[in-house]
Amino acid sequence: MDEEGPDCGKADFVLLDQVTMEDFMENLKLRFEKGRIYTYIGEVLVSVNPYQELPLYGHEAITKYQGRELYERPPHLYAVANAAYRAMKRRSRDTCIVISGESGAGKTEASKHIMQYIAAVTNPSQRAEVERVKDVLLKSTCVLEAFGNARTNRNNNSSRFGKYMDINFDFKGDPVGGHIHSYLLEKSRVLKQHVGERNFHAFYQVLRGCEDSQLEDLHLQRNPALYSFTRQGAGLNPLDSDERSHYQAVMEAMRVIGFSSEEVDSVRRILAAILHLAVYQRLFEWVVNRINCVMEPRDRDPRRDGKDTVIGVLDIYGFEVFPVNSFEQFCINYCNEKLQQLFIQLILKQEQEEYEREGIAWQTVDYFNNATIVDLVERPHRGVLAVLDEACSAAGTITDRIFLQSLDTHHRHHPHYTSRQLCPTDKTMEFGRDFRIKHYAGDVTYSVEGFIDKNRDHLFQDFKRLLYNSSDPTLRAMWPDGQQDITEVTKRPLTAGTLFKNSMVALVENLASKEPFYVRCIKPNEDKVAGRLDEGHCRHQVAYLGLLENVRVRRAGFASRQPYPRFLLRYKMTCEYTWPNHLLGSDRAATSALLEQHGLQGDVAFGHTKLFIRSPQTLVTLEQSRARL
Ligand code: ATP
Ligand code: MG
Repeated sequence: MDEEGPDCGKADFVLLDQVTMEDFMENLKLRFEKGRIYTYIGEVLVSVNPYQELPLYGHEAITKYQGRELYERPPHLYAVANAAYRAMKRRSRDTCIVISGESGAGKTEASKHIMQYIAAVTNPSQRAEVERVKDVLLKSTCVLEAFGNARTNRNNNSSRFGKYMDINFDFKGDPVGGHIHSYLLEKSRVLKQHVGERNFHAFYQVLRGCEDSQLEDLHLQRNPALYSFTRQGAGLNPLDSDERSHYQAVMEAMRVIGFSSEEVDSVRRILAAILHLAVYQRLFEWVVNRINCVMEPRDRDPRRDGKDTVIGVLDIYGFEVFPVNSFEQFCINYCNEKLQQLFIQLILKQEQEEYEREGIAWQTVDYFNNATIVDLVERPHRGVLAVLDEACSAAGTITDRIFLQSLDTHHRHHPHYTSRQLCPTDKTMEFGRDFRIKHYAGDVTYSVEGFIDKNRDHLFQDFKRLLYNSSDPTLRAMWPDGQQDITEVTKRPLTAGTLFKNSMVALVENLASKEPFYVRCIKPNEDKVAGRLDEGHCRHQVAYLGLLENVRVRRAGFASRQPYPRFLLRYKMTCEYTWPNHLLGSDRAATSALLEQHGLQGDVAFGHTKLFIRSPQTLVTLEQSRARL
């Protein structure tokens, strides 16, 4: 951190003189202007999208962070990746890195830098199998972006699905496999794109990138303007030449991952068929599964009973508010409520509880607990999703409007729910169409139109059977449920909302079982321009990401805490009383002697089992004296 120089602002918001929005923004802005896009809040990394290439990445930078403590170097994604990796390797802890922020804030770019860091620092002995796994991990991003990303008005390469990727490591700390979970692909985009937006990249890549003869085989013409799914929105740019090179990169990535040439042919044919016809989600899920098969860890390490350690990376859509918000935004915002709740639980609540457990004096910090909003959505029998399911299970007569009435009845007294019916004077909502939820990040008005259809998500069984009976093995593999007999089929399938809720509950459980690291991404302006930080826009994000509360809790608390034995193991060589071994009765007494010798005892508190260090500077001082030896 000391390398940054004095005029770059505070590298950790914890060190601010006062914790007000003004001070926070001033520091954020100052650092952004100096090209310092990363700043810590304790171990949480705040990142502002620079919208330009900065000389911050690559081999040289990676070496600077490798094996270092978080506070030794200027804040960086590499430091977080390194901290997660070291916690995993040293302490055999499963860890996860949760990346959040709104569309265009830089989540996917951040996840790529993290993956690059991990790929760069692992497998020093160049084992072939590990190299294969690393190759697939890195290349999978390129393939998934082709099928799951699209140009939107907010981001030219917007991820239209949520992604959680586990990377499995063996006892040497080398990646030996992985698994991708995808969440809620925005499949409605295949049929309809808003003005200025495009369909998924893959369609244009096929039209632009295929050889003439391949296009002829597929009965396609090169011009996207000829197809209803690619001519809406911003699809029309016949001069867009990048598509061809992207297409080639995706084909190369698919080959490296291990897609056979027959499979690639099928994918191309299906994309073509979709342009002619309606089945994209199946194609996407199949691509994800295919990558997962290739990444399934092969030689499990017998010394850990077949259990690897894992680093999970979550890159999932941020909070969304559009002029008209539908079922998709409702699911996405519910997902953000769940993640915010986890953040509160893990960072704020656990922190307080730990101080109590360790017998350290604690000043209570008030924070907004959004559990009540999560409950409004997911509560059994009466939450919004349950009421929606009930509407869907009733025979065909229930309309979106009746569903809304039912919501009004159930939630008329809920402090975070309202509708035009309940609040007749509020003309920003439409009678019989809108309801509003007061989310932790702000108010969102949802239009109930289409909720029931989208939640039912019917695909006719005849159609599934037809595709399952196709002569193309890839197509068959995408429709295994076409095989089911009539009795199985007549059982009511789970609704889209319930499936999504179940996947969110499982995701949060999974994350909660791991040691979390957080990257909070901020989008500096709405115009995707380099070097401009629009204060109003950022304030809003700082507020709803709960960053000020985060700083307050950190400050009330401590920058770092370490069990005494771990602390001594790392620093005992810096003190004559503790090197090579201490004779001071307890590790706590030895830690105290060490700190006294460095003159640092004023900046710490002694817990029952752990040392609590208030400021990052103390860690830097200790690290420096260790490095001098
Ligand atoms: P969405 O939720 O829509 O998927 P996102 O948060 O994943 O959005 P990204 O796609 O990661 O956003 O970033 C949007 C664009 O911002 C990138 O395509 C890139 O142009 C730019 N960008 C993001 N991070 C960086 C960075 N660290 N350096 C340079 N440019 C960046
Ligand atoms: Mg993204």
